[in-house]
Amino acid sequence: TPLYLNGFGGLKWFRPLKIQHLLELKAKFPDAKLVVGNTEVGIEMRLKRIQYKVLISVAHVPELNVLHVKDDGLEIGAAVRLSELLQMFRKVINERAAHETSSCKAFIEQIKWFAGTQIKNVACVGGNICTASPISDLNPLWMAAGAKFQIIDCKGNIRTIMAENFFLGYRKVDLTSGEILLSIFLPWTRPFEYVKEFKQAHRRDDDIAIVNAGMRVFLEEKGEDLVVSDSLIVYGGVAPLSLSAVKTKEFIIGKNWDQELLQGALKFLEIDIFLKEDAPGGMVEFRKSFNT
Ligand code: FAD
Repeated sequence: TPLYLNGFGGLKWFRPLKIQHLLELKAKFPDAKLVVGNTEVGIEMRLKRIQYKVLISVAHVPELNVLHVKDDGLEIGAAVRLSELLQMFRKVINERAAHETSSCKAFIEQIKWFAGTQIKNVACVGGNICTASPISDLNPLWMAAGAKFQIIDCKGNIRTIMAENFFLGYRKVDLTSGEILLSIFLPWTRPFEYVKEFKQAHRRDDDIAIVNAGMRVFLEEKGEDLVVSDSLIVYGGVAPLSLSAVKTKEFIIGKNWDQELLQGALKFLEIDIFLKEDAPGGMVEFRKSFNT
């Protein structure tokens, strides 16, 4: 059954079971916080003392919990927990052609170093995306992998946006107060298309990254050579948002996949990923060294 509880200080907590009910609540309370795992909101309320007035638990809304294998990729509801997603990735890499699951393999590796099991069992995909932390371990990968986000508004209209264009600034995303993230579409990779993850933290286990990244290259055979036909390289932990290395991408597209390309790309990365001496987060020299 749907639930509504009143808490101390006028806090309202709702648990809708239908998307329609959720959209009505969001229309009525545009500032409401959606919760699934509460691993971001709980910290904001308890440690940072932010007082949210309305919380909507969306963990039981079926449309936000879909996990569908499609011909062209994977459809992932925004409230799907990271542990469930991990299981699905493991299933598809066994069932599908190897070239299709390069992104899935990168996600499996990245989720391995994402928090501990308890957090992964409750934390959802959409919570990580919409928090838009500059050090999110997954957002650089959604972007690099060419994922698309489906957004639904209070009237039920759905629009699609590339993950690459969704992050606008420090914890700022392309969502109005009347919109929520509905699902994520992760396309299968093509033959000669490779996605790779990267995370450097103080500890291997259960630690926030210092720098992380998601990278994709799509190669084409031209005679004897392999030429880069498309690419996206995204870094976390180097700017207020997950940052796409645009100049590097432009440089490598159309070039042969060889040592010369690597050396050239490293020069362009220095331009794309620019950290000032006093950049927030410190350890500037250390962080820069990951680009070289
Ligand atoms: P919640 O706290 O329930 O919600 C988060 C936010 O997202 C809220 O503002 C909510 O309004 C919004 N939101 C949720 N769903 C939607 C939706 N459908 N549409 C619009 N907005 C929505 N993160 C990493 O990247 N890497 C780590 O290694 C990592 N380790 C962690 C370790 C610990 C101990 C903790 C506490 C957190 C860690 N995190 C890490 C961050 C966190 O676990 C993730 O961001 C998590 O995925 C958030 O999901 P949630 O369900 O808990 O979000």
